[in-house]
Amino acid sequence: MALIMRSLVFLLVLVSALAGCGGDDGTSDDAAAKVGVVTAFYPLAEAARQVGGDLVTVTDLTPPGVEPHDLEISPGDVEDIEDADVVLLMGNDFQPGVEAAAARADGAVEVLDALAVDDGDVHVWLDPQQMRAILEVVVRALADADPDNEAAYEANASRYGAEIGAVDTEFSEGLADCERRTIVTAHDAFGWLARRYDLEQQAIAGISPDAEPDADRLAELADLAREQGVTTIFSEELVPPDIAETVAREAGGLRTEVLNPIEGLTEEQRDAGDDYLSLMRDNLTKLQEALGCA
Ligand SMILES: [Zn+2]
Repeated sequence: MALIMRSLVFLLVLVSALAGCGGDDGTSDDAAAKVGVVTAFYPLAEAARQVGGDLVTVTDLTPPGVEPHDLEISPGDVEDIEDADVVLLMGNDFQPGVEAAAARADGAVEVLDALAVDDGDVHVWLDPQQMRAILEVVVRALADADPDNEAAYEANASRYGAEIGAVDTEFSEGLADCERRTIVTAHDAFGWLARRYDLEQQAIAGISPDAEPDADRLAELADLAREQGVTTIFSEELVPPDIAETVAREAGGLRTEVLNPIEGLTEEQRDAGDDYLSLMRDNLTKLQEALGCA
């Protein structure tokens, strides 16, 4: 037994020595000192990067251009989840594969649970006030893993929270005085946003974009769009636009326009430096045009 233990200790020393190779410039020490955060999809990755800053490394499980609902994860992703110091996921069956893997991980936080909201709709990040609340959840998760830097996490959250607060004010003011208040969206992602700014959302698909509507629902939406003078049927980037185009055609040749649920960035958006704040502002411009806001 003692011999086995000695061999194990020797192996561990060897592995540490190998892992240290090439790390003399200090970079690998820095990486080791950082809090390893794994996030389930873009809005949580952005929250973690903003709150964690240089103190964390963030690995996002949803690749660019991929729609995150029901994300399928690889065995490598499962290892990342199990090895992470902090795992941030939404919960409530948004991504059952991630949720199953995170159930075995220490440091996993289901954000919807932590927000203690009574609405099970996962799309909370599209309400800026809820996005600010998410930052507080992230502060607590990071501070649990790394108590020494709690003040830094709080300061980062306060700075980024103020930027989100500015977007919230722009939405309140920009959507205060509009000719119409009904938005027809590709999937049921804008409920939180609609409630915050007193809009009415009519979604073509369900809470998940692959819950496709039947012909009756499409006809009903086309009628409703005509009755309410809707000008624009919204589609989104990570989902094919055909159904939005069908509704627009059946309603008498309406425009289609992209309204972004900010569930993920495309590679082009990422490379162009787009982020949560810039995409929210794009959404506001499109809503103002579609709704005829002063
Ligand atoms: Zn969605």
